[in-house]
Amino acid sequence: MIDYHIHEYHSRDTLHATIPNFIKEAEKKGISEIAFTTHLIISSPDVIISIQNNEIQDYIEEIHAAQELTNVKLLVGLEVDYFPEEERRLETILSEYDFDIILGSTHYINGYDVGKRSDVEEFFSGRPLSKGVDEYFSVWKRAIESGLFDVMAHPDYWRKFVHFHIKNPTWQDYGEVVFDALQSLVDNKVGLEVNTSGIRHGVGSFFPIPEFLVSAKEAGVKIVTIGSDSHEPTSIGYGFTEACNQLKAAGFDGLNLFRNRKSELVKFNNLKNLNSVM
Ligand SMILES: [Zn+2]
Ligand SMILES: [Zn+2]
Repeated sequence: MIDYHIHEYHSRDTLHATIPNFIKEAEKKGISEIAFTTHLIISSPDVIISIQNNEIQDYIEEIHAAQELTNVKLLVGLEVDYFPEEERRLETILSEYDFDIILGSTHYINGYDVGKRSDVEEFFSGRPLSKGVDEYFSVWKRAIESGLFDVMAHPDYWRKFVHFHIKNPTWQDYGEVVFDALQSLVDNKVGLEVNTSGIRHGVGSFFPIPEFLVSAKEAGVKIVTIGSDSHEPTSIGYGFTEACNQLKAAGFDGLNLFRNRKSELVKFNNLKNLNSVM
């Protein structure tokens, strides 16, 4: 198993989850590699849950020190919130450090927090659902084209609270822009994540839905990862096998492993022998 989306205590929505506790759990579950991807959020009210600039070096060193004590491969990463007007500042911060993987996220769309129930209601109200989704994927596409990110986290995050207010969205509600966005992933060699937290959050499926994976494969997307989005150790590795099965069903034949922000595809059959692969 591999888990490329984990929040430890530098994400302030995760205060009690320490790096050693995640490693202990990974060892127990036989997870061969994990990526720590703490939040970097430089705008919006959520800056308070972000790692602070002056903590990034310590965060990286803490992961390196922990690596000395375990056979679980530890990756240094971030989950970075994308804001179109902040591309330069993000580029500067990301270029200052050596990371293995940078996840891109669009929790905020043009001032609306699509991970917050009240904002979601307002964002989608007064128009067909697919129009709101088009607006979401327009920003998501810009994030891909920014060149800041290796993999886009939870691609259809807009679904997180939609089912409370509107209805259970289906692939028919995904609008038009999603297809351009999938093409952008291909053109910019950016990956997509299957984020298993959707089930834990009561959304009823992973982010993204299986139809999205099928369309991504058809578009020619080649880079895929799986992440649990764990904010506490017990959920690491959550849903990994089922996520692999959904990727296989969509036609993908492996997962991408990252080192120093470069990736290599490892076929599903070879995942068992990971240590000898990279
Ligand atoms: Zn996220
Ligand atoms: Zn996350």
